[in-house]
Amino acid sequence: MNWIAEETERIGREISRLKAEGKKIVSSSSFQSHSIPLLHLISRIDNSIPIYFLNTGFHFAETIAYKNEISELFQLNTIDLHSATEKLFQKDSMDRFLYASEPTYCCFINKILPMDEVLKVNDVWIAGVRKDQTGTRSKFNEYEGGPHDTTRFHPILSWTSKMIHEYQTMFNLPVHPLESQGYLSVGCEPCTSKYISSERGGRWQGLKKEECGLHTDLVAKK
Ligand code: SF4
Repeated sequence: MNWIAEETERIGREISRLKAEGKKIVSSSSFQSHSIPLLHLISRIDNSIPIYFLNTGFHFAETIAYKNEISELFQLNTIDLHSATEKLFQKDSMDRFLYASEPTYCCFINKILPMDEVLKVNDVWIAGVRKDQTGTRSKFNEYEGGPHDTTRFHPILSWTSKMIHEYQTMFNLPVHPLESQGYLSVGCEPCTSKYISSERGGRWQGLKKEECGLHTDLVAKK
């Protein structure tokens, strides 16, 4: 498929340019099936680029196993990020974990703050968001400003879920083990449901929330 070779060349060219400018580049991944094409691309372009995994401690065991499998297979430089707030202090007055009563704050301490620390000492954040995933993401540009004068680079922003599937098929990439059980988007276990009508529909079901904040809070205000 020609488009895959063209995209690989285009993204490789962009990363080479950023490196030639002396930029410190990082990426992040939630290690779901649809994340894997970008990780595969990065591994083919420069597998020394750090891939941060926001390890909240609430993931499915299958996700952790899949992360380890993919990291090994692609020889990725994967780094787990943890919240500085111990789980003991992630509970509300009723002794429930915050995801039950304050999911936005739970995401903030487990995802936003750890990633923000990474961005303080880097220049470019490669993020695998796509326009066809959510209303927020549909408004992104390929390059956006991030916090601390960073640049967000969204190399597969215009890819569709069909293109993701074509890429996975072409390279016979492993799929997340929960996908066959009906999970289209797999995040933290307490906040993920099986859902079949849209890619991210199973996240925070019953709430208006559709983003954890990585792609809303960590974007420079225009
Ligand atoms: S997705 Fe759920 S469990 Fe994970 S950090 Fe956000 S609120 Fe907490």
